[in-house]
Amino acid sequence: MRYISTRGQAPALTFEEAMLSGLARDGGLYVPETIPQLSADNIRALQGLTYEETAFRIMRPFVGDGFTDEVFADLIAKAYAGFGHNARAPLVQLAPNHFLLELFHGPTLAFKDFAMQIIGQLFQEALERRGERVTIVGATSGDTGSAAIEAFKGLDNVDVFILFPHGRVSEVQRRQMTTPPEANVHALALDGHFDDCQARLKDMFNHFEFRDNVRLAGVNSINWARVLAQVVYYFSSAVSLGAPDRKVSFTVPTGNFGDIFAGYIAKRMGLPIDRLVVATNQNDILHRCLTGGAYQTSQVHPSISPSMDIQVSSNFERALFDAYDRDGAAVAQLMDELKEGGFNVSQGALQALREHFDSGRVSEEETLATIQSAQTTMGELLCPHSAIGVRVAETLRASDTPMITLATAHPAKFPDAVEKASGMRPPLPNRMADLYERPERVTRVANDLAALESLIQERINK
Ligand SMILES: *Cc1c(COP(=O)(O)O)cnc(C)c1O
Repeated sequence: MRYISTRGQAPALTFEEAMLSGLARDGGLYVPETIPQLSADNIRALQGLTYEETAFRIMRPFVGDGFTDEVFADLIAKAYAGFGHNARAPLVQLAPNHFLLELFHGPTLAFKDFAMQIIGQLFQEALERRGERVTIVGATSGDTGSAAIEAFKGLDNVDVFILFPHGRVSEVQRRQMTTPPEANVHALALDGHFDDCQARLKDMFNHFEFRDNVRLAGVNSINWARVLAQVVYYFSSAVSLGAPDRKVSFTVPTGNFGDIFAGYIAKRMGLPIDRLVVATNQNDILHRCLTGGAYQTSQVHPSISPSMDIQVSSNFERALFDAYDRDGAAVAQLMDELKEGGFNVSQGALQALREHFDSGRVSEEETLATIQSAQTTMGELLCPHSAIGVRVAETLRASDTPMITLATAHPAKFPDAVEKASGMRPPLPNRMADLYERPERVTRVANDLAALESLIQERINK
């Protein structure tokens, strides 16, 4: 299995190479050259398997020969052993034909643990075998950073630096990044927005001298291995509702388009998915684009669903690549236009996108109201992101097709918003109840590339 860049100018790589490098050197994102297919019988055979067994069957064809079957199965087992629920991704019913996929039982209480935990294992195994070490730098609006730190802390062959926007993440998110005591963990609070963090990260990747010098690796949602790990729960949940013999739809609270793109890959692999619904907060570039065709950036408006407060959805580039019939030059041109503020998706490409994706946007007031009403009418305390999904799903779902809404974080990760809406303050699970007592360790940094690069150099040479 080979991986090619969405901008058509970087060399094709193996799974392992694409995973270790993150972003392609032409600025593009890696995608598989071909998509492995699962027949209806293959999908039916997933019924009754454990999450880990399902994960093995879904991911195996993408991973190539770098890992043996035995090693790969062992890494999957280690990745999910620390989850607080035996089903890993349990499905609960909200209403007739509406289901909630709880993706928040991992160590940092957000869905990002599903991908990050297995990526940590895969990195460590590959680097040990190669006798190499890497410097991981990630940008986060909150959840990616804590999930990455949790996955990479204490690993021998890795330093992990996380850039988060100072003062713009929740206290639980911040503490999950600043309290791990391991020496290879570096939490950096940047003066700026998440988009600034993401922009500086991209700058580092495009600064090849620095990139090669520190052996820079990325684990943001642009890393293909992350998308791949997220494909698994689309299969596991759909199968438990009767796939492949019954179609299902999904609604996904969306920021960087990584999670929902995994759903699109599941569909391309043969899972009978009817609609993939993008749910956004007031930062609605994706909703505007899917409805009107204009992908136009504007200001970030901070919201009570901070993990979705972004203006540029990095993984959307992967969907555009397919919508433009895998024309890398066309995608490269759109991305050039984006630097000037935006672009218009062609009629043909927009039609191709709409064959798979619907969208909806939810205001702050509607988010709070949904947390409140889900608590009283569905018996579920939702985090603000998941509430956005539930709201859009309730509006757009068809009565005859089961809708699965992804619950992307535990309500206790966003206790202030949840309490404001419902009057209930969700407690942290017991296994992390002492989070507020642990000492914090963080470095405040300016929004300045040169300063960041020298800080990173200095830390890894210690
Ligand atoms: C990251 C995140 C999202 C958005 O996921 P994308 O893959 O970026 O679309 C939604 N909800 C929560 C809680 C998150 O952490």
